Amino acid sequence: MDATLTFLGTGTSMGVPTLACACAVCTSADAHDHRLRPSVLLQWHGAETGTERAVVIDTGPDFREQALRAKVARVDAVFYTHGHADHILGLDDLRPLSFVSDRRGGPIPLYADQETAAVLRQVFAYTFSPQATYPTRARVELKPLAARNPVDGVEFLRIPLLHGEMPINGFRFGNAAYMTDVSAIPESSFALLEGVELLAISALRHAPHPSHATVEQSLAWARRVGARQTWFTHIAHDLGNEETNRTLPANARLAYDGLSVPVTL
Ligand SMILES: [Zn+2]
Ligand SMILES: [Zn+2]
Repeated sequence: MDATLTFLGTGTSMGVPTLACACAVCTSADAHDHRLRPSVLLQWHGAETGTERAVVIDTGPDFREQALRAKVARVDAVFYTHGHADHILGLDDLRPLSFVSDRRGGPIPLYADQETAAVLRQVFAYTFSPQATYPTRARVELKPLAARNPVDGVEFLRIPLLHGEMPINGFRFGNAAYMTDVSAIPESSFALLEGVELLAISALRHAPHPSHATVEQSLAWARRVGARQTWFTHIAHDLGNEETNRTLPANARLAYDGLSVPVTL
């Protein structure tokens, strides 16, 4: 089944431009160098119903702006990689989309591991607490993240990853995988990546960082996975789009906000 993967945001946690920074990338006139916080949107026509389906991975602080730009009119499920601010703070902007979902039949399922769900319950207590009575709260429902999570016939596989010391999740769907904020891939996760042709993976910069992979590390993983096409995301202001792309192999590029690529589910 044909689907489209859209990069809603490709920046690191502080975004690019970064506040108070006047470096060449932060002041670049190239739109590819403007990066909102990391998130992707997967859209396809449902096997069971034939209607359009849309899944978002992470709702960061820029979600509203990203959803407007991508003309997102429905969200069928959200998957969370982990509970850091740059991946969750836009949850409240799901509200209007959740009202649409609720009228259609139910709340939007939010798939999160236990640690992430605990953060979401705390940050958005007025949405999730059993005593929540705020009338226009998001119509969303936390669902435990399993090894396999079907959405209208499409399986989303959880790929366990490490983000510094913190266990987080990547996701595989069809011939593609999305792995952001990764600094180490457990050996057992490589089996789940067998046959992945399109890899979307974070690559912060060239200099080492305790909780994020460098471009070189992510390139090495892409080679090991055997990806035919690799798109880097969660990119810091150290990397200019054009100059970095000139140094990369032909099948690897920095993604940019708004980029859509075809995937097969
Ligand atoms: Zn992040
Ligand atoms: Zn993070």
